Amino acid sequence: VILKGHVTGVLTEDDMELVTAAVGIAVPAGSTAVLVKILYLSVDPYMRIRMRNHLEPNYIPDFVPGEVMATLGVSKVVASGHPDFKTGDHVWGMMGCEEYTLVSHPESLFKINHPEFPLSYYIGVLGMTGLSAYAGFFDVAKPKKGDYVFVSAASGAIGQLVGQLAKIKGCYVVGSAGSDEKVNLLKTKFGFDDAFNYKKEQDLNATLKRCFPQGIDIYFENVGGAMLDTVLLNMRIRGQIVACGMISQYNLERPEGIRNLFSIVTKRIRMEGFIVLDYFGTYRKFEEEMAGYIKEGKIACVEDVAEGIENVPAELIGLFSGSNVGKKLVIIAQE
Ligand code: NDP
Repeated sequence: VILKGHVTGVLTEDDMELVTAAVGIAVPAGSTAVLVKILYLSVDPYMRIRMRNHLEPNYIPDFVPGEVMATLGVSKVVASGHPDFKTGDHVWGMMGCEEYTLVSHPESLFKINHPEFPLSYYIGVLGMTGLSAYAGFFDVAKPKKGDYVFVSAASGAIGQLVGQLAKIKGCYVVGSAGSDEKVNLLKTKFGFDDAFNYKKEQDLNATLKRCFPQGIDIYFENVGGAMLDTVLLNMRIRGQIVACGMISQYNLERPEGIRNLFSIVTKRIRMEGFIVLDYFGTYRKFEEEMAGYIKEGKIACVEDVAEGIENVPAELIGLFSGSNVGKKLVIIAQE
């Protein structure tokens, strides 16, 4: 799947194109690259950010028009010039939005250590998504037992995990999501104490006041815009906002203004962003802890699975209207 040109405004399927090209089946002589056959690909909101033409350097390079887009995937090594990887190994990491990728720096790939879990977990709960939830919640928010926690896009890939980690920590957790089905999932499957459908709420401020009469200690921010603006009015003194993402802004050319920013001063709020890439060095520690939680039944995950490389563009676009219920991934091939 290639990006046809830099995207302005709302992403459409016309911005991407599926092309067919032959794959070499060997690793070039003398190279330490590995050739992988992709089994699962992740579709993630940040891919939209990479479709812009940033004038300032960004935290991750923009996609290059005419070239294959990149994303995270789970794959099987089919040829290797690297001593640490052999044919048949399963790995996850950054690959192309394609069926086979020649990974020139395989040191960036993670070998899959827990074959007892479905391989798709390494797209989500045991991959970058899980690490984002874990690092954002534990390292940035540093929660305490009894904290009042609010999570937006709460049924999504990261949100569902943050809510469950907050319950493990002994917090009171409320989530917002964009459908009654998602709200039900939050309460029944993921153990949120309360949840609401933000699309149905006429008065978001009144809803947050109802859910948090004493105010919010930690807001795990996934959406930005009006939600952030209203949350600012409902934070507790010295509350914390963990800025993970602001998906409501990614298709906009001009980000929406935040009217209640001065609350940061009056309520002494700490707002801190993070980028999961900074935590990749801690991945193995996270992986073991999260694998333990899954085995103990403390963490559940819901995946939203599509099939076929041709569906990657539509599935990516769907993230921006909330068509996914849980972690969106695409099956590219069987082993
Ligand atoms: P999700 O699985 O949560 O999918 C995106 C969800 O966002 C949709 O299902 C939808 O849910 C919600 N959404 C879409 N558009 C809007 C909108 N206009 N207003 C409100 N909600 C909207 O995605 P992820 O869990 O993968 O990502 C969540 C956030 O985390 C994103 O902002 C992403 O950019 C960020 N992120 C940050 C990372 C970091 O390192 N800081 C790493 C990875 C992701 P609903 O139906 O509930 O509206």
